[in-house]
Amino acid sequence: MELLEERIQKDGIIRKGNVLKVDSFINHQMDIPLIDEMAKEWKRLFAGKPINKVLTIEASGIGIAALVAREFGVPLVFAKKSMSINLDSNNYCTKVQSFTHNRIYDVIVSQKFLSKDDHVLIIDAFLANGCALLGLLDLVSLAGATVEGIGIAVEKGFQNGGELIRAKGYQLESLAIVDSMDAETGEIIFRH
Ligand code: 5GP
Repeated sequence: MELLEERIQKDGIIRKGNVLKVDSFINHQMDIPLIDEMAKEWKRLFAGKPINKVLTIEASGIGIAALVAREFGVPLVFAKKSMSINLDSNNYCTKVQSFTHNRIYDVIVSQKFLSKDDHVLIIDAFLANGCALLGLLDLVSLAGATVEGIGIAVEKGFQNGGELIRAKGYQLESLAIVDSMDAETGEIIFRH
């Protein structure tokens, strides 16, 4: 998506360790008109799919996913991260390795909000190694729900998450795929 690529090119900051900061328009301060356009693009890409729920993971996915849920006219459910094992049996629970924080979280969704009747669109801000997405897919599978598609704002194409998820046969729509980025020159190359 050209609008997003241009914005990443202009305001994205490349940090050591293959980290791309998009804090000024997605991850901390949010550019709502931009994200509204992204939501419309996902609506177009997933047209005709019987999506009745949007699922994301806290924290930075929630803002984007909320606008997507509004675009689709369906509820948003966000998986919660918790540092302690939750013994409440009314939750689906899985584990996720965090790329940015280098630790393992328990991630939960209440059984009240995800069931076998649900047709889910998964939304997240970033796709790197795919750990966060695999956790969300696990939660959907534990609920017996159906994944209708996955929407990612920024995929880092040089890490293996995208390949892993596409190999599983999911419709994965990343609005910007970064093929390479250079912290020294600031150059970012997108896949088309
Ligand atoms: P994965 O689980 O695919 O390795 O990483 C996805 C998660 O890690 C995302 O939810 C995002 O929060 C975070 N993440 C991974 N790489 C980056 C990055 O380059 N920049 C930012 N801002 N977050 C990232």
